[in-house]
Amino acid sequence: MSRVSSQPPQPLPDSGPPELRSDSERPTLRRDSGRPTLRPYQQQAVERVVTHFRGSSDPAVVVLPTGSGKSLVIAELARLARGRVLVLAHVRELVEQNHAKYEAYGLHADIFSAGLGRRESGRQVVFGSVQSVINALDRFDAGDFTLLVIDECHRVAIGDGERGQSPSTYQRIIDHLRAARGDLKVLGLTATPYRLGEGFIYHRHHRGMVAGPETAFFRDCVFEQPLRVMVKQGYLAPPRRLDAAVARYDFSQLTTGRSGVFSDADLNQVVQGSRATPVIIEEVIGYAAECAGVMIFAATVEHAEEIMGYLPEGEAGLITGATASKTRRALIDDFKARRLKYLVNVAVLTTGFDAPHVDLIAILRPTESVGLYQQIIGRGLRPAAGKQECLVLDYAGNPWDLYAPEIDDPRPDSDSEPVQVECPECGFANVFWGKRDGDLVIEHHGRRCKGLVENEALESVQCTFRFRYKVCEQCGAHNDIAARRCGGCGERLIDADDRLREALRLRDARVLRVSGMQLEQTLNGRGLARLKVTYHDEDGATLAEWYALETPAQRGAFYRAWLDQHLRAPGIGWRPGSLDEVLAERHRLRAPDFVIGRKVGRYWQVRERLFDYQGRYRRADSAETP
Ligand SMILES: [Zn+2]
Ligand SMILES: [Zn+2]
Repeated sequence: MSRVSSQPPQPLPDSGPPELRSDSERPTLRRDSGRPTLRPYQQQAVERVVTHFRGSSDPAVVVLPTGSGKSLVIAELARLARGRVLVLAHVRELVEQNHAKYEAYGLHADIFSAGLGRRESGRQVVFGSVQSVINALDRFDAGDFTLLVIDECHRVAIGDGERGQSPSTYQRIIDHLRAARGDLKVLGLTATPYRLGEGFIYHRHHRGMVAGPETAFFRDCVFEQPLRVMVKQGYLAPPRRLDAAVARYDFSQLTTGRSGVFSDADLNQVVQGSRATPVIIEEVIGYAAECAGVMIFAATVEHAEEIMGYLPEGEAGLITGATASKTRRALIDDFKARRLKYLVNVAVLTTGFDAPHVDLIAILRPTESVGLYQQIIGRGLRPAAGKQECLVLDYAGNPWDLYAPEIDDPRPDSDSEPVQVECPECGFANVFWGKRDGDLVIEHHGRRCKGLVENEALESVQCTFRFRYKVCEQCGAHNDIAARRCGGCGERLIDADDRLREALRLRDARVLRVSGMQLEQTLNGRGLARLKVTYHDEDGATLAEWYALETPAQRGAFYRAWLDQHLRAPGIGWRPGSLDEVLAERHRLRAPDFVIGRKVGRYWQVRERLFDYQGRYRRADSAETP
């Protein structure tokens, strides 16, 4: 298999007339003087979209951080389109903003938004709000729309209809336009391409990797401008995360409900009347002395009201979901005009709100997703005169790394950092949560390689190499550790709980809930050195096994039978050449969750070691590493 290059697909000769054309093809007549100029990365984003849709009608995503000028990219694409264009947004502020950028070119477009009091749909380009368009679908019947642009597309629950629920609003609009025109191009834009509980919203990334599931509505991310690059090039202010010194809330016991969000009742349990709140706000006020604008993100309405009580009188405003829109606008105006220094809010000012002077963000709530965390901090990264950086105070111990959004799992613990792990099969440099010892990766949480490789039909598909896996007993295929059926032969995979239950029933079987594993060198009956591995449980019961590592064949057997599953950083190619090396590098090894032994004659034999256990039995409280 070969690595797929990161180039977007080249146009196919028979792909029909392009719906978008590059700027060089534009008649010079339309080059209006004084039109906005695109920054290099905006230009690049536009070009990638044009190239993608020349060769494909698969829905695509462009990822641009907050503050990177998404509206201008949309405007340029709308300008370049040959057919009609519908640009959807979920709030009227965005509809207005996108429309204004387009008209800055000296062109005219329609607005279809009841909230803005305009329901026009006759011009080539229409900027609409989702709610207004869905209520007047018959106005978008002609089949001449060739491009649908969805702003803030991470909000879009597309494809929900497939799971037996009623199709989402966005899905209905897409279906409607597609019914009239099968080759409709759908482009999504977002700063945070993830959905709560679902992960990445697109399947393939232009850097040659896989992100979301194959069933994701958006097939490709054709362009992404990383936040880190935006900061480095000076387009955004650098965030500086300070360790909250005085106190912090402990949200670690909270779990999200089925909706993926924390409940107000649970949040209030932690924050309401907490002795931490006044101390925290005192610290925020201390830092604020040097700052121009402060945004405080509270956990609940009650929490926010308490916070208001500790802030200097007349300098703070509070916005919640219940604040009347007139009051809300007045408060935002006061904040932007710096008549208010502090703006406290509860989950409402995460998108579409813009006050470039904000240079201190205090987070007093847990954030359920990296996307939400990025959106919150994004409020403080707009450049402004005299602004050097944006301070970030996190009092909630949020586990997200602003700069590592390529990993959409929460950080497993505070010692973990993004580590690079090369795939032994295709060479792709994966980034997973993990731990390092100097330059050496000693642990990572990657399961499957995210690299894209070319299959026999020359399509780019996800590399099949798995770092951690469950072996199918029928066909030997490697499956995800959580898989229930084998991807190779379709057989049901044997469940760890079935194994444990069966062993617990047998008189000649012993099950250890492993709380520790010991490695040592012993001599066998003939005086030859052997690696002895002893597993023990919380009650002191043990099982042991021995391995020889003298010859290459013995070592090969040891790697396959034992080492591969015990590596904390699988797939990085560590192959100890001697027993001494195993003992010296034992920090690279992990203990299994359970060990099952069977009695053979007078002795106990280890039959099975269970790793990555997720089932109904309790694991040992703290399995110590060897
Ligand atoms: Zn690979
Ligand atoms: Zn199988």
